[in-house]
Amino acid sequence: MQRDLPSNPHAASSPKPPLPVARVYFACANRYISVLDARPNGTIARCPQCGRSNRLPPRTDSAPGDRFFEIAC
Ligand SMILES: [Zn+2]
Repeated sequence: MQRDLPSNPHAASSPKPPLPVARVYFACANRYISVLDARPNGTIARCPQCGRSNRLPPRTDSAPGDRFFEIAC
């Protein structure tokens, strides 16, 4: 039996999975920012316009991958 797998030279060049990211849209700054979303008790996202800190809800196992938020401060 011969396996006919397609060759992928880039398959072995990813040592660790990417960290999860939260993308936050700040309405008062009209800008998107990306923050690392790996804190168990909630990531802090700071508005680039007014400097106000907003705590994002903690991640849950049922929602893996990147998250998206829209904040109006
Ligand atoms: Zn703001």
